[in-house]
Amino acid sequence: MMPEISKVDLHTHSTFSDGSLSPEQLVQRALSRQLRLLALTDHDASGGVESAVKAAEGSTLKVIAGAELSTTWQNCQIHIVGLFLDLHSNALSNFYQGQRERRIERAKAIGVKLERQGFHDAYARTCAMAEPGALITRGNYARFIFSAGQASSIDDAFNSYLKKGKSAYVNTLWPSIGEAVDVIRASGGVAVLAHPKRYLLTNTKLRRLIEEFKSSGGLAMEVASCRQRPCDRVYLGELCQHYGLFASMGSDYHQGSPWLDLGLGLTLPEGLTPVWECPQARELKLDEFLRS
Ligand code: AMP
Ligand code: MN
Ligand code: MN
Ligand code: MN
Repeated sequence: MMPEISKVDLHTHSTFSDGSLSPEQLVQRALSRQLRLLALTDHDASGGVESAVKAAEGSTLKVIAGAELSTTWQNCQIHIVGLFLDLHSNALSNFYQGQRERRIERAKAIGVKLERQGFHDAYARTCAMAEPGALITRGNYARFIFSAGQASSIDDAFNSYLKKGKSAYVNTLWPSIGEAVDVIRASGGVAVLAHPKRYLLTNTKLRRLIEEFKSSGGLAMEVASCRQRPCDRVYLGELCQHYGLFASMGSDYHQGSPWLDLGLGLTLPEGLTPVWECPQARELKLDEFLRS
């Protein structure tokens, strides 16, 4: 049986970071899959949001302004999604500027490592494959390595070159979880702990992460994602309820596949309060909108 397509997807990427579709194309794809609510959450950037909002104007789809912020917590890279962001916020612009500088420095350092391994002009050619001014992530480099025929897939590019411990890995100290949550709150947004199972933490450490995230002012966590074991969704649902957080769900769309697509199979376990019922969303009357 094919999994259903949910009407909501609150974690997606466009060409403004390492996604394969432009914001307009992403909106078209969401509309063709009959989604009603889509958050664009590019890495450390919201440059694509305005175009996505414009593309959805007058349609049955509402676009939520978001971003996925990179943080460092106990030597792990933890992602915090911000939803309902005020894109005119100075706090947010300053944060993005810092992330942009860190990312450029890191992307150049990755480029140097790849050059030494025979990838000619790696940084410039990776930039050329993205939207002008887009934030360069390891996802962009993975696509470059794959297109250069040096990896059999995006996953293989990570496993062979880009993962921690591999030949083109560059360690970066990102801001703390507290700094990311503060900037999201200062921009009127809701902080969501992204894909909590992806960090491969022990259950004890995952609980510690959620506790620290919550005490920093984090309000929600992702419970439902694509390519997720059913037992993981149940466990995350239990943690979400235990810590009194709002529940979110998102595909983390970068490019479509049979297992990962906008809204694909995203359903929340019973008894959780979805993030589109939080006070910020109530102001936008999202609950009513979803029922219409
Ligand atoms: P960065 O923020 O530059 O470290 O890049 C992180 C991005 O790389 C993630 O958001 C994913 O899109 C992608 N990524 C990380 N690990 C993998 C992996 N093992 N396979 C495929 N994509 C990955
Ligand atoms: Mn990515
Ligand atoms: Mn992520
Ligand atoms: Mn993501």
